[in-house]
Amino acid sequence: MAAGAHNAEPVDRGASADPIALSGGCLLGSRQALGSGHPSLLKPPGADIMSLIQPTRIDFDNPELTSTRTGLVSELRAFLPPDAVLERQEEVQPYECDGLSAYRQLPLLVVLPRTIEEVQRVLRICYARDVPVVARGAGTGLSGGALPRGDGVLLSLARFTRILDLDPVARTARVEPGVRNLAISEAAAPHGLYYAPDPSSQIACTIGGNVAENSGGVHCLKYGLTVHNVLAVKLVTIEGDLIELGSNGLDAPGYDLLALFIGSEGMLGVTVEVTVKLLPVPERAQAILAAYDDVEKAGQAVGDIIAAGIIPAGLEMMDGPAIQAAEDFVHAGYPTDAAAILICEIDGTSQEVSEEVMRVRDLLLASGATEVRTSRDDAERLMFWKGRKAAFPAVGRISPDYYCMDGTIPRRALPEVLRRTAEMSREYGLRVANVFHAGDGNMHPLILFDANKPGELERTEELGGRILELCVEVGGTITGEHGVGIEKINQMCVQFSPEELRQFHAVKAAFDPKGLLNPGKGVPTPRRCSEYRQLPDHQHRHPH
Ligand SMILES: Cc1cc2nc3c(=O)[nH]c(=O)nc-3n(C[C@H](O)[C@H](O)[C@H](O)COP(=O)(O)OP(=O)(O)OC[C@H]3O[C@@H](n4cnc5c(N)ncnc54)[C@H](O)[C@@H]3O)c2cc1C
Repeated sequence: MAAGAHNAEPVDRGASADPIALSGGCLLGSRQALGSGHPSLLKPPGADIMSLIQPTRIDFDNPELTSTRTGLVSELRAFLPPDAVLERQEEVQPYECDGLSAYRQLPLLVVLPRTIEEVQRVLRICYARDVPVVARGAGTGLSGGALPRGDGVLLSLARFTRILDLDPVARTARVEPGVRNLAISEAAAPHGLYYAPDPSSQIACTIGGNVAENSGGVHCLKYGLTVHNVLAVKLVTIEGDLIELGSNGLDAPGYDLLALFIGSEGMLGVTVEVTVKLLPVPERAQAILAAYDDVEKAGQAVGDIIAAGIIPAGLEMMDGPAIQAAEDFVHAGYPTDAAAILICEIDGTSQEVSEEVMRVRDLLLASGATEVRTSRDDAERLMFWKGRKAAFPAVGRISPDYYCMDGTIPRRALPEVLRRTAEMSREYGLRVANVFHAGDGNMHPLILFDANKPGELERTEELGGRILELCVEVGGTITGEHGVGIEKINQMCVQFSPEELRQFHAVKAAFDPKGLLNPGKGVPTPRRCSEYRQLPDHQHRHPH
């Protein structure tokens, strides 16, 4: 394509290109890759988190719901093709959960529009009928954000799969929300460009989901999260209005609603178009793998690198259980006797890379690394990353179930948090494997458990909650990139004061006065928080 030329024809790069995303469903059969996906994990009605949403599965005998469904179906079918409105149990079943598959709920209906106008009409109808709406991309979210409601519409954006425009001079791409993250970089590659935020799920997850979760990835340490790489978003409000936030420029007039919207977890509007920044593919990249006999030393080395003024393209850490699992799975050549490894990638011009790699090597050796390897070519660099990228499914192979946590801490607190997490792991009798974006302080403790053992899921949830609250205690946050959803709703009460939560509710009400968009997610009610704060075990831990 000539410089400055745009794609004349929009290109289809969406969920349909990928079999996992194509399923549109719970990513069935991927239990180990996704966490606790065992059917036995269905929680009983009234269980803690499920009490936030509809407590039962869809009830086809409930006259009120049946009447709502019938009315909706007839209004929707008046302008949507038959395959865009799914209502039978077997049709809606694949949408009953997202990547947090411990929690399941059949939606009242699934609607799959193809155009912005159709989304507007669907939302107007739901608004008029007071029907809740949950938007969904590929369903890879790990915090239950796309968990449906039994009394609501599940609005899938899976058919919005076109790259509308790719401008190599402005270095931007305008894409529909169902386009997969990786597909953007694939389309930009012929121009020497790529889209930087790279969640490990990038083969399947959609840009609409990335915007909703403010997703991150290995490269976000240097290049920023989704919020730093999106220029504009078109969204449809629950009342059916189409609005545009942001601009192609570096600044936009008015309140910065784009930053507010990114990370709002489908609670403020439905994204129907996204303009992203593209970056030049770096001239060279080299990776360094360092082994440690002590997890805390590895944690300290992370701080040393950043304190030296080096911002690596990626700086990731894995502890012993994660190293062993990844090595058994992909045979990346990891030192399996190490207590922890760091993988550090440096990118830039050839000279920059050579200089920084030397500096990082010296820092790693000075911090007590027992072994430091530098990739000799791209194949070896990719091999260093292979185990890290496959770490979640790899851990899934060594445990019947696992629960992936996501919290962020100041880098200086890494050694302390790793030590205290290990203590709690012993206290609860549950193994914890750590795989995480160490440079960002974004922890991903994976709690290994067996849902078939009575009480083990409950203990896992409690341990997970305590780890997140530890993150808050050391000055961090309860989420780094996976969002709050239903999973971390209690910990929002620890992170924020009642006054702060009141402002969140006010923002929500400004966009969604009836509270119909993804209700029960993200922001807890004041009542829930006051009950949670009064729990005896909780009181002495955090006074906030
Ligand atoms: C194996 C694995 C690895 C992962 N690794 C990472 C990682 O490295 N970094 C990371 O950040 N995340 C990671 N995730 C989590 C997940 O992939 C991301 O949160 C992703 O952004 C979700 O995208 P999705 O299209 O699947 O969204 P979904 O799961 O379908 O939805 C997520 C949320 O977005 C909302 N939403 C979706 N589309 C829209 C829309 N068009 N408009 C409004 N709201 C919408 C939903 O309501 C929901 O609240 C991982 C998940 C898995 C399973």
